[in-house]
Amino acid sequence: MSSALQVMKFGGTSVGDATCIARTAQIVAKAARDNSCVVVVSAMSGVTNRLIEAARKAATGDSSEGGNLINVLRRQHAAAIEALIQEPEARQRVMRLVDAVLAEGRRLCDGTALLRELTPRTLDEISSLGERLSAPIVAAAVSTLGLRCESVDATELIVTDAFHGGADPHMELTREKAQARLRPLLAQRIMPVVTGFIGATAEGRLTTLGRGGSDYSATILGAAMDATEVVIWTDVDGVLTADPRLVPEARTIAVISYREAAELAYFGAKVLHPKTLNPVMQAGITVWIRNSFAPERAGTKITPEGRSIGGGVKALTAIRDVTLIAVGGPGIVGLPDVVGRTFSTTADLRANVLLISQSSSQNDICFIVSASDAERTVEALRKEFAQDLAHHKVEHVTVVNNIAIVAVVGENMRGTPGVAGRTFAAMGRENINLIAIAQGSSESNISFVIEDQAVKKALIATHKEFGLDVAAPD
Ligand code: ASP
Ligand code: MG
Repeated sequence: MSSALQVMKFGGTSVGDATCIARTAQIVAKAARDNSCVVVVSAMSGVTNRLIEAARKAATGDSSEGGNLINVLRRQHAAAIEALIQEPEARQRVMRLVDAVLAEGRRLCDGTALLRELTPRTLDEISSLGERLSAPIVAAAVSTLGLRCESVDATELIVTDAFHGGADPHMELTREKAQARLRPLLAQRIMPVVTGFIGATAEGRLTTLGRGGSDYSATILGAAMDATEVVIWTDVDGVLTADPRLVPEARTIAVISYREAAELAYFGAKVLHPKTLNPVMQAGITVWIRNSFAPERAGTKITPEGRSIGGGVKALTAIRDVTLIAVGGPGIVGLPDVVGRTFSTTADLRANVLLISQSSSQNDICFIVSASDAERTVEALRKEFAQDLAHHKVEHVTVVNNIAIVAVVGENMRGTPGVAGRTFAAMGRENINLIAIAQGSSESNISFVIEDQAVKKALIATHKEFGLDVAAPD
């Protein structure tokens, strides 16, 4: 083993059943030949969803779903244990751990049903159970290949704020705790297998990092442990140039910058949790995304600078299920505070604003929110501007549904003239109407709004225009 430290994270599908866990264990064993490794695991796929469903059901006073789920989870995890671990003592030890976690789950669901109340704290405790079940099984499976492993609860490592359901790490405290707990293990050549998704406040109260948060756990630990690299093992080949369900010619991107990957994560390419790259950016730690079902493929390498290709366009993404809201009318020219009031209203609601556009005539401010935020946002705006609407200073607060945002992403578009022109010319050729356009001054993203039914056509045309269907020279 060299001093190189690799943090490797396996998502839910990579630990989805005994066969997947066995494949994962092989990948870990291979990496451990050349590196010290810290493994981070998600819950078996689907488990977190079902736990959350059972918790919500319990809150209505019905604990039967919780009880049923505990039985289902026991069978599912016992089957994996039986298939993976032959040695009777090891098998019993892991089964006892699983049973202890399940007993806690039953207590939590029963308690919730009794009180008919689900606090964010209890929801976090219930949703964390999946990772606490999978980590000991993965550790035991890797041990069968002759490596020494220990499963570690991330509540012992990652210190977070108290924002249940989407906590953020306190990096200094996390560094202290993680180093103190993991270094001695690594020094004895014991590989830690850590529960993803969870952490704890400084007072020791369990928190979760948000759905899909195990990616984030991996980079938090990567930064805290001064890792050489972080490898996110998932069920796709890496970051793709576009969603292959919409663009059949989409291909895997070999190298991409932090900034580009973060843009794509923000704009709905599901491959990374949006906060994943924050912890590693400062230290410049390389992150890989690789396919645990096809480990022979190289995957995507995410580096501080990426690599420039073609016209600077790297990838396309689309966000659907969004709503455009416009606040406007000729009267708003003389109302200097419309912009401020509009966005303090959205901020108060914590509505996530995905795109903003205003023309210089100031007749209209339009912005986009998730469809699920639209109704309450419009209601709040109509209230905020009630007086102005009555006096026709603001003429309308209107809504457009069935639209989508398409984002063209690439760091090297900066200073490359013509990207917007080529994009919009392609839309013109396809007869696609542009409803709104936005480009940030960072110039790593051009976004435009079109009718939802034109998304596929728009993506295919743009993909072709920038030659993304042709493999980049390596
Ligand atoms: N198990 C958690 C979830 O499903 C975390 C993760 O998979 O990354 O959201
Ligand atoms: Mg997941």
